[in-house]
Amino acid sequence: MNTIAVIGAGTMGNGIAHVFAQNGFQVHLIDVSKEALDKGLATIAKNLDRMVAKEKITISDKENTLANINSFTELKAGVSKVDLAIEAATENVTIKLKIFKELDDVCDTNTILASNTSSISITQIAAATSRPKKVIGMHFMNPVPIMKLVEIIRGYSTSNETTTAIMELSKKLGKSPTEVNDYPGFVANRILMPMINEAIETLHHGVAGVEEIDTVMKLGMAHPMGPLQLADFIGLDVCLSILNVMHDGFKNPKYAPSPLLVNMVMAGKKGVKSGEGFYDYSVNRKAEVVSNQFTK
Ligand code: NAD
Repeated sequence: MNTIAVIGAGTMGNGIAHVFAQNGFQVHLIDVSKEALDKGLATIAKNLDRMVAKEKITISDKENTLANINSFTELKAGVSKVDLAIEAATENVTIKLKIFKELDDVCDTNTILASNTSSISITQIAAATSRPKKVIGMHFMNPVPIMKLVEIIRGYSTSNETTTAIMELSKKLGKSPTEVNDYPGFVANRILMPMINEAIETLHHGVAGVEEIDTVMKLGMAHPMGPLQLADFIGLDVCLSILNVMHDGFKNPKYAPSPLLVNMVMAGKKGVKSGEGFYDYSVNRKAEVVSNQFTK
C-alpha cells in the first residue's frame, strides 16, 4: 500500500493523516468543509512542531510529512487511485452509509474500505457496498499520533485477507492492532462509555463536582485522565452518538445516555472542540472548571 485516502479532517481524521504521512505514505485528506480541512492541516503542522521542539523528529521530517499530504473537498477527486480509504467522518450512520456507497462506486475494486467508527456496525456499513469482504473497522484512538492501539473490527463478511493486510499495515505505523468482532461499541467503547456515562450521572445526581469525580478516578484508579475530562477530549457529541448506538443495538437501558449529556450536546457544549464541556478550554485549551449549577 502506498496511497491512502482519509475522509474527514476532524479530531481523528487529521491524526490518522498525520501518522500515515509521517510513515512515508501519500495521503489524500478529504473533507466536505474547506474550513475543517484548513483546521486539520494546521493541527497536523502544530503537532509536528511540538515533536520537533521535543527533538522527536527533525525539521526535514516535518517538511516531508506535510509534503506527503494533499487535501480535497471532493470525495471523487481524492479517492480514485488509492489503495485504502479510511473514513473518519462524523459519527452518523446516514452519513457513513452514503460515503461508503460513493466510495464503492468510485474506488478501484481492489481498494480496501475502512471505517474509524467508534460504534456503528461494520457489517451494516459493508452491506452498503458491493465488496463486503474488503470492508473493515480500523478504530484508531485519540490522539492518534500518540496512542498505540488500533482496534481492528471484522465485520460479518470481512475476509481473512483484508484483516491480515490491515493488521500488517497498522504494525508498519508502529501501532498495536488488536482484532475484535463486530458488536455495538466493539470492545473499547463498550467498556469505556458506560464508565463515562456513569461519571456524568454521578455529577448529575450531585454526588460530587467535576474536579472531585475526575480526581477520584485519577488518584484512586490510576487513570491518566478523569472520565469527565476524557469525555471532553473525545467530544460530548461523539460520546452521545456512541451511547445511542449501544442503547439501540443491545436494547438495554444500562446504555441509555445521561439526560445531562443530552442537554449539554443540545446546548452546543461539545468539549474541547467547542471550547467548553465539563471544563472551559477557551484559554490555551487548558482545562478550567466551568462555573455552572454542577460546580461549587
Ligand atoms: P469530528 O466532528 O471532529 O470530525 C468529523 C469531520 O467529518 C468534520 O470535519 C466534518 O466536516 C467531516 N465530514 C462530515 N461529513 C463528511 C462527508 N460526507 N465527507 C467528508 N467529510 C465529512 O469527529 P471525530 O471526533 O474526528 O470523529 C470521526 C470518527 O472517528 C467518528 O466515526 C468517531 O466515532 C470516530 N472516533 C472518534 C474518536 C474521538 O476521540 N473523537 C476516537 C475514535 C474514533
